[in-house]
Amino acid sequence: MKNIAILGSTGSIGTQTLDIVDGSNGELNVVALSAGRNIELLEEQTRKYRPYLICVETKEDAEELGIRLNDTDVRIVYGMEGLTDVASFPKSDMLVTAIVGMVGLKPTIAAIKSKKTICLANKETLVTAGHIIMPLAKEYGVDILPVDSEHSAVFQCLQGENREDVEKIILTASGGPFRGKTLEELKNVTLAQALKHPNWSMGKKITIDSATMVNKGLEVIEAKWLFGMDSDKIEVVVHPQSIIHSMVEFKDGGIKAQLGIPDMRLPIQYAITYPDRLPIKNSERLSFKECSRLDFEEPDMEVFKGLKLAFKALENGGNSSVMYNAANEYLVSMFLREKISFLDIPKYIEFAMNEGTFTENPNVDEILETEAEVKRILESEICR
Ligand code: NDP
Repeated sequence: MKNIAILGSTGSIGTQTLDIVDGSNGELNVVALSAGRNIELLEEQTRKYRPYLICVETKEDAEELGIRLNDTDVRIVYGMEGLTDVASFPKSDMLVTAIVGMVGLKPTIAAIKSKKTICLANKETLVTAGHIIMPLAKEYGVDILPVDSEHSAVFQCLQGENREDVEKIILTASGGPFRGKTLEELKNVTLAQALKHPNWSMGKKITIDSATMVNKGLEVIEAKWLFGMDSDKIEVVVHPQSIIHSMVEFKDGGIKAQLGIPDMRLPIQYAITYPDRLPIKNSERLSFKECSRLDFEEPDMEVFKGLKLAFKALENGGNSSVMYNAANEYLVSMFLREKISFLDIPKYIEFAMNEGTFTENPNVDEILETEAEVKRILESEICR
């Protein structure tokens, strides 16, 4: 039996992780959970899974939950300290990082130092601190197992292969709801249109990231750190059906791909049960009779500049990826509140990357300072 803790149990990945727990016939046991503001769902999850420890974002919500759950003996914590307690909870073997944003950084570091296996969905942590996380995981002998479907696909393709034989990683992208559109057509797209992803049902932030293709940019940076690949060895191809989840090309020209119906439960479960594979309840199977074609296109990086800027961030090095990510997190939150337009997102990411202070090899404090600086820069530019 594996004891697991989940950061972000009330979100899209978090709830699907709990579906995997439900189907595990008691092989997975939930010992700690964290949520942000959705205390109703966290209360329900606490009554169902009986964790020892739960965490919410604010002190007020922790107090409210304390009243609601006073018939249980669950311990309730809050804020960054609470997230860190969940991440490093002594009774857990494994942490699923299903929280969204850079807020996952410090808890992930704490989990690695407590020798927890990491099932990593929270890509923002690797994007901003891959140069800290990967060596730290090596130092503590901790596995970082990808949950992102593309990285899971690459990870699955790499099983049984020598890393030296890998020539290229090919990440597939659905192209999102605005594939094929021109810049002119993107000028006035609405929030509702951007939130309609053609193939995947996900949290709001990553859905917007998919529409701008910043998500693919974040995944390129994530792939660099997870698989130790230079950016010129990572290619992005648009594949609108989202059947091939990603590919690896080897030095003999052979290419391995991982295919399946888009269903995040597979990569989540593969990370949790690795190296074992288990059946997934009610999972739809791919039928080649019904799926008669698979299409591929080159991404348009002039229209979807958010992707191009990720390659630029990698080329610049240092804290450029932090600026890229921090700007995007701030701008997506502004777009979700309908304060800026869709095309403002890549425009101001570029602005922040040009204006931010460059730091060669940022430590955790410098990463967080970069995040704060980017927010200051964008606030003053946008509110001018
Ligand atoms: P959601 O928005 O659905 O869920 C995010 C979770 O994080 C929620 O539990 C939320 O709590 C919690 N949370 C948010 N902000 C805070 C905070 N400040 N403090 C504490 N908790 C917080 O996101 P997703 O599940 O879609 O994505 C999670 C991560 O996984 C992201 O990094 C995303 O890029 C990555 N990912 C997601 C995929 C998907 O299919 N959804 C696919 C691949 C990667 P609450 O709701 O209670 O406020």
